[in-house]
Amino acid sequence: MTPAWLAPHVSRLRSAFAAGRLPHALLIHEAPGAGGEWLAGWAARMVLCSKGLRPGAASADAEASPCEHCASCQRAAHGQHPDLTLMRPLESSTQIRIEQVRDLAAELALTAHQGGYKVGILSPADSMNRFAANALLKTLEEPPQGTLLILVASQPSRLPATILSRCQRVRVRAPERTEAVAWLEATRGPGDWERVLGVLGIAPMTAAAADPAGVIEIAAEVHRGLEEAAAGSGDPVALAERWARSELPLRLTCVENWLTERIRGNVGGGSGFTEVRPGTHPLRHGESLDLRQLFGLLDAVRELKAAFDAPINRGLALESLLRSLEARRFTSA
Ligand SMILES: [Zn+2]
Repeated sequence: MTPAWLAPHVSRLRSAFAAGRLPHALLIHEAPGAGGEWLAGWAARMVLCSKGLRPGAASADAEASPCEHCASCQRAAHGQHPDLTLMRPLESSTQIRIEQVRDLAAELALTAHQGGYKVGILSPADSMNRFAANALLKTLEEPPQGTLLILVASQPSRLPATILSRCQRVRVRAPERTEAVAWLEATRGPGDWERVLGVLGIAPMTAAAADPAGVIEIAAEVHRGLEEAAAGSGDPVALAERWARSELPLRLTCVENWLTERIRGNVGGGSGFTEVRPGTHPLRHGESLDLRQLFGLLDAVRELKAAFDAPINRGLALESLLRSLEARRFTSA
């Protein structure tokens, strides 16, 4: 089922393909969890479908392309199509490495097994390091005939300008909350999706891959832990150890949410109106010191999230975070 907020992109890509105007390289710039990889997979099936559109050939049934039923569509959907390569960071890493990009380039240079397109998807493409990006540049500059390269990224500014300038950009924004909830109910069944999105942000694809009850439970547990730490009644060492052991990225998101709520309370607006972005700390003269400290903690949490690949002791970093919370003794917002 095509998510409603992606339907306009689907329709534009279909028209471009039918008119023979599909570029060799797409950069899907997505809001995190908004479905960039879904759209990339769809575009791959569109060009690989054995019953679907062919460029230049008028088709009365363009809406039914890709058919989603032929062997090509099925194989592509299950990641088993010989002409489709999906590159993600390897399990032990958060980066797409140069060897992977070289493998992809070599694969794209071969003739398509099915005589049509060859498709490469890089996701998240902004996890390529500099060497990997340079290796990709060669393929982007001289793409083999019948190549579709799709880069999915939520922070494309991390990619070199030489890469960006060679891709046609597709901007996938986060859907409305109601659209996201409706899609989650339709694809995953009933659940407290409102609350799950409250924790994860409007990131329906992330929510779809999660256990909704588990997310809500962890959010409540982290909330309790932070309230205790702020009241000075918790045990930061035990808490940090427990949090570092399981679901740490989700827990850090929950800590981020908790701090953001407090910052909103502190600037006096209640919920919903202050967008808190990294690096923009709207401190004005006369505002409480608490706010500055809260922003400091928020930065620390974001650094910890960003440093997942780095060899730091996560337990210790968390513990120090909880201790500084305890030391501040924030009043509840
Ligand atoms: Zn098909």
